[in-house]
Amino acid sequence: MSDRYVCSVDIGGTKIACAIMAFPADGSRPHSVYEAEVATDAAEGGEAVYARVAAAVRAALDAFDGEVLGVGIGSAGVVDPKTGGIAYANEIMPGWGGIALGPRLAEELDMPVAVTGDVHAHALGEARWGVGRGYESVLCLGIGTGIGGAFVMDGRVMRGSHGAAGHMGHIESTAAAGIPCACGRSGHLESVASGTSIGRIFEERYGRVDPSRPTVGRDVNDLVAAGDPRAIEVVSEAGRALGASLGTLANILDPAVIVLSGGVIHEGTGWRSETWRASVAEGYRSQALDPLEDTPILIGVLEGEAPLIGAAENLLDTLR
Ligand SMILES: [Zn+2]
Repeated sequence: MSDRYVCSVDIGGTKIACAIMAFPADGSRPHSVYEAEVATDAAEGGEAVYARVAAAVRAALDAFDGEVLGVGIGSAGVVDPKTGGIAYANEIMPGWGGIALGPRLAEELDMPVAVTGDVHAHALGEARWGVGRGYESVLCLGIGTGIGGAFVMDGRVMRGSHGAAGHMGHIESTAAAGIPCACGRSGHLESVASGTSIGRIFEERYGRVDPSRPTVGRDVNDLVAAGDPRAIEVVSEAGRALGASLGTLANILDPAVIVLSGGVIHEGTGWRSETWRASVAEGYRSQALDPLEDTPILIGVLEGEAPLIGAAENLLDTLR
């Protein structure tokens, strides 16, 4: 067998990344042989975003001199597992919900296209080629502006009957009681443990870090690294809330390993600090049942490559 190539796309609220991923014949780790990135400009609406995705894929196929097996896409929003269309997208991507992404692109390009959620793609990448490799089951959580996740069992992502499985930011958290959530409900984990929430909570208690702009998670991370007790307090609370929810999820799923990933974790040192990790572990132990107390909680290693690798793997799965 020779090397195989897949065009891979990661569609987020701020950028669209497009790559040609090579899967070496010797079975070694896939890597990109072409990479490009454009702004999503999501405010322009779903049709405009679709046009940019199609243009990015065409540019990648034109630039690559070789046979590409198909297009694997990981997209923000909820992807209908049966059709590959976007079933739902929040206000960050207006008009993206309802776009028949997979079928339209497949017809336009006359090649196989497989679409899955961006968080699902990320988890599949980490489970097959990242820190989750070799584990029978992986519970993966992405912590950034929001919190999402996926459960991968025997190398397959549990997508759910609506494609919406893994919205782990939107489970009830005691620490979030009464706090409004971005989804329109209240009391959800995301409202106390995401990067956005860390910034908001710090600002509510202690004012802005930089008076000229709203405080973001990154600011608080930097203060943790500098030993600021107020920041340590806020980040520790967020870590404990996240850990407690991880314990609850472990009680349901009993994963072989838990993998934490996402922009915020990799951006700053604060999230990777002992402070945060110790509080996550403390929260976890407060909820996980005894047989689950030693489940490893690891940090993802593939970062931005994870969704591209996962989306390509998902395409290859559909061809098998
Ligand atoms: Zn919510």
